[in-house]
Amino acid sequence: MEHTRDHLIIGAGMAGSAAAVALRQADPAATIAMLGDEPHPSYDRPPLSKALWKDGKEEDIWRPVAKTGATVQLGCRAVAIDRAAHVVRDDQGDTWRYSKLLIATGGAPRRLPFGEGFIYFRTFDDYKRLREAARPGARVAVIGGGFIGSEIAASMAMNGCKVTMLFPEDAICARAYPKALADSVTSYYREKGVDVRPGVTALGAAGGALELSDGSRLQADAVVAGLGITPNVELAQAAGLTVDNGIVVDEHLRSSDPDIYAAGDVAAFPAAALGRRIRVEHENAAVTMGERAGRCMAGQDAPYDELPFFYSDLFDLGYEAVGTLDARLETVEQWVTPFREGVVYYLEAGRVRGVLLWNTWDQVGAARKLIAESGPFDARNLRGRLPAA
Ligand SMILES: Cc1cc2nc3c(=O)[nH]c(=O)nc-3n(C[C@H](O)[C@H](O)[C@H](O)COP(=O)(O)OP(=O)(O)OC[C@H]3O[C@@H](n4cnc5c(N)ncnc54)[C@H](O)[C@@H]3O)c2cc1C
Repeated sequence: MEHTRDHLIIGAGMAGSAAAVALRQADPAATIAMLGDEPHPSYDRPPLSKALWKDGKEEDIWRPVAKTGATVQLGCRAVAIDRAAHVVRDDQGDTWRYSKLLIATGGAPRRLPFGEGFIYFRTFDDYKRLREAARPGARVAVIGGGFIGSEIAASMAMNGCKVTMLFPEDAICARAYPKALADSVTSYYREKGVDVRPGVTALGAAGGALELSDGSRLQADAVVAGLGITPNVELAQAAGLTVDNGIVVDEHLRSSDPDIYAAGDVAAFPAAALGRRIRVEHENAAVTMGERAGRCMAGQDAPYDELPFFYSDLFDLGYEAVGTLDARLETVEQWVTPFREGVVYYLEAGRVRGVLLWNTWDQVGAARKLIAESGPFDARNLRGRLPAA
């Protein structure tokens, strides 16, 4: 079948759904379609690894796309973009002619080269599978000590599972947090009953057990892997769009083709405050970029010009963060209560490049302003810049 729409969105995730809502608001008469390869309507991903394990309220995760009146084609994968003809082909053999196209395809979890049945945690279906397996007393192995691995391990432990965490680094989230904080979080997980094994990786799997780099074997009822994602750029690449660690877009979320936009985890955008192009995997970025892309597609001047923030919850610890959290940078720590409440500033060449607000709330705007300042900053003039309470 052939379809024609003013606006076509590939990817019915967080950015795609935000774009559909913004498009409808900006252009009440426009025809809009969204193609999503998952079987479910658009939903929020962050609750999959935290809130749903606390309150189980699945009804809260669905995003408000229905009221846009957009055609939403689920279980439908876009397989090719013909830029000259302004046509997208899907895996059902249908074609979709567009005036403006948004690519919001997110990312795909990195996979291990061995083992079957592992849960590479990304989707609502992954959540459902883990929910089935994660009965109290179940042995859950979590591979990966980054954001997803640490959230899943905490949620599993809070649900009465016997959790073992494996990762190559020295401590949980060691690539993002300063060493003392990462060590403290690792100790906290152990206090909560998690068997944390830093410096240990999985090398293979056989007979329901993982073979580990320290020579031991680990029996598990479920294996969850959080190894990061790679952006889904294949469609864009095949269509000849400029791709460099994500689809390269300008501040109006426009790709190297003026009729094609990109937003969310798949987009590499200019971050003026950092003076470089970045690609992030955060809810705030996905939703705001989606919203701005929708408005720009509808003809508005709506640049994406803010630095995104992200957040996480680990047991009863929580934080928000802005900018670059790279433990290799110089860090200045300002604690009200060590490793429980405070602020960490990440510095590079006298400028603040990132701020971690550890159990410290309502400071995201101030952190953004600080990152935009030219400095120079050091430990003396930074401490106390943001109220750590
Ligand atoms: C478990 C989990 C917890 C998270 N927690 C946090 C958090 O606490 N804080 C935070 O800031 N961020 C968090 N994130 C990250 C955040 O959810 C992502 O940044 C956000 O979902 C990105 O939105 P997106 O629309 O770019 O991609 P997605 O939401 O992944 O949506 C992309 C959609 O496009 C589909 N798709 C891909 N290719 C095609 C195609 N060819 N045709 C049709 N459809 C296609 C995909 O299947 C997917 O449904 C979390 C992510 C996960 C997985």
